[in-house]
Amino acid sequence: MATTVFTIANQKGGVGKTTTAVNLAAALAEKKLPTLLVDLDPQANATSSIGVEKTAGKSLYGPLHNEGTAAEMITGTAYENLSLIPAEEDLAAAEMELAQSENYLLRLRGVLEPVRASDRYRVIIIDCPPALGMLSMNSLAAANHLLIALQCEYMALEGLGQILRNVDRLKAAHINDNLDLGGVVMTMFDMRTNLSRQVVDEVKKHLPDKIFKTVIPRTVRLSEAPSFGKTIFAYDNANPGATAYRQLAKEVIDRFNLKAAPAPAAASAA
Ligand code: ADP
Ligand code: MG
Repeated sequence: MATTVFTIANQKGGVGKTTTAVNLAAALAEKKLPTLLVDLDPQANATSSIGVEKTAGKSLYGPLHNEGTAAEMITGTAYENLSLIPAEEDLAAAEMELAQSENYLLRLRGVLEPVRASDRYRVIIIDCPPALGMLSMNSLAAANHLLIALQCEYMALEGLGQILRNVDRLKAAHINDNLDLGGVVMTMFDMRTNLSRQVVDEVKKHLPDKIFKTVIPRTVRLSEAPSFGKTIFAYDNANPGATAYRQLAKEVIDRFNLKAAPAPAAASAA
């Protein structure tokens, strides 16, 4: 079983990165893919959204500084097949300190390598801070595929150029030759406005192969769930947001050939 690493990165905050990281991870886990969610944002929104309490010393800060391993930071969640590497405020310091270390762009990849190689997880999803700083750049260097969450709003396309230029830079520098734009997830789609539809059409025109068919609707339930530490599936399973994230997971599984773990061998017929 190979491990596929996704990073959900872009420089804008409030566009649905964390909501997508958490609920996509939960939907993949629900489909029986052993999944590890990595919270790389010092604000630890993914950590609290999934119902795990922030704990001092429990984040990738240590491992990124050669103290401890990523495996030691993994914690279970309330959800089957879903584990987490939490974040906490310390990670903010990594942003600056990483810049002073050797091979500073490859630190995260090195730290995650043993976890990847252990084949414990089919999928790793990294949730990034809202900036293209050291942590986000490290996640791009560590990932197979970049997923971009794009809010259905005016000027949505503007920010896209910046992150794609960074991807090109990493490739030109041979930091991560294999990185690709895996897909664009349109978030907070508002059915009552023409704007949402126009933005989706615009992105479709520019990136017809990248945009996911599934569009995530704006729904208050998706914004409430994190304050209860629950995924949308645990909070309101029948909500259109839950349906959308399940559909997105299906698309992701198809697009990246993530097959469910093989069922345990059937007992031989007596
Ligand atoms: P980011 O991680 O990019 O900063 P978040 O996922 O934290 O973005 O989303 C920003 C805010 O918008 C949060 O309060 C979140 O609950 C809310 N939100 C995200 N997606 C939706 C949605 N589809 N419908 C309604 N609210 C949403
Ligand atoms: Mg976030």
